[in-house]
Amino acid sequence: MLLSKLLIPITKDLPADAKIKSHQLMLRTGMIRQSSAGIYSWLPLGFKVMKKIEQIVREEQNKIGAQEMLMPTIQSADIWKESGRYDDYGEEMLRIKDRQGREMLYGPTNEELITEIFRSSVKSYKSLPQMLYHIQWKFRDEVRPRFGVMRCREFFMKDAYSFDTDENSAKKSYNKMFFAYLNTFKRLDLQAIPMAADTGPIGGDLSHEFVILAETGESKIYADKKIFEVNLKNFKFDDKSLEKMRKDFSSFYAVTDDKYKKDEFDKNVNKSNQIITKGIEVGHIFYFGDKYSKPLNCFVDTKEGKKDLVKMGSYGIGVSRLVGAIIEAKYNNEIMKWPKAVSPFDVVIIPSISKNNNENMVKASKIYDELKKQNVDALLDDVDENMSIKFKKHDLIGVPFQIILGSKSKENKFEFKEVNQEAKILSLEEIKRKLKK
Ligand code: ATP
Ligand code: MG
Repeated sequence: MLLSKLLIPITKDLPADAKIKSHQLMLRTGMIRQSSAGIYSWLPLGFKVMKKIEQIVREEQNKIGAQEMLMPTIQSADIWKESGRYDDYGEEMLRIKDRQGREMLYGPTNEELITEIFRSSVKSYKSLPQMLYHIQWKFRDEVRPRFGVMRCREFFMKDAYSFDTDENSAKKSYNKMFFAYLNTFKRLDLQAIPMAADTGPIGGDLSHEFVILAETGESKIYADKKIFEVNLKNFKFDDKSLEKMRKDFSSFYAVTDDKYKKDEFDKNVNKSNQIITKGIEVGHIFYFGDKYSKPLNCFVDTKEGKKDLVKMGSYGIGVSRLVGAIIEAKYNNEIMKWPKAVSPFDVVIIPSISKNNNENMVKASKIYDELKKQNVDALLDDVDENMSIKFKKHDLIGVPFQIILGSKSKENKFEFKEVNQEAKILSLEEIKRKLKK
């Protein structure tokens, strides 16, 4: 892509209401544009990043055997009346009437709809367990939409649902999701801590919020530093190993403020290991038994020839919130560096351009064509601006590799900058090898 042709409306001015760095940066680089309060359009740069995150989330769901599907954004109010949540959900739910006067709503989540689909299509224990997911827009009319994509009204979420015959089997599904979540966040280069969360009337310990540490987060968190030492590599993908994994994580104290008790924290965690900070919730998993299958009459035939309510769990990841969360974690001193896995481009080529010498630009175009042939997604900065302005711009766009054609490049060698490393002078062949890695 040529920078001059990319719709990337970089602005200097900051809207007064952008209080946190991710919101500021996303507006400044034109990743998003507000269309109304808490509702955003995703422009090409932001959209690319979000799609890459979505793909990683999808791959990790597929790996544990969850099946992708797609449910609509608009739902009928009927199933919500059946579950009893139509009244309970309150003003966060956007309610709509169609031309026949039927009550509809923009889905804030999908427990009811998926249960309705399941009860009409699955009858026997023989088809269980099942895990289904979709990645779809949600709408919640938040009281105070704020912080850009972090708390908006319309947002993009992966929500998965598990169906099992009994609690023991449901636990195994839960553990698989727990594992998938940790792997997903790891691939996004984020350290997410699974924190014990409230399970409500169901009880038990099967609810976790996945939180990444960030000063600008909305959740206050209390954790044992040692939780970061649990290594995912030590666990195999079988039921026993996965149960051990969850137990190992759960053996360390890690809670948000609604579960925090000072005496418990002090009793369980050495002062020197105590982390008290803020965090961003990027995912939430929950086992809730027959909370929805019961009011919605979702039964399956059991092995013993009886009928039993199906046991369910639900598992959410805030895909659009993650774009902001990654920025909160990686943006420092006016410099953004995207993790390679989600960067909007693989590499940016920055030639120094002047009116009476277009040699650098010619070479840069050749490199660009060459990389394109190798399926490297390169951005070529073909804009006629001085180098210091260019560098500032690329500090914001945040592509983690740069090829610079300026004073330091020689005949067929170019300056190559890798995130957090000293610049090197390399040939195109050497650069290609580095990018391949
Ligand atoms: P929160 O406590 O932040 O309101 P929640 O408990 O309502 O979150 P869930 O219903 O568990 O969230 O939704 C799953 C995920 O969707 C959350 O972990 C979060 O990453 C994301 N999410 C929820 N609400 C929003 C929102 N208003 N804007 C952006 N992402 C959201
Ligand atoms: Mg909420």
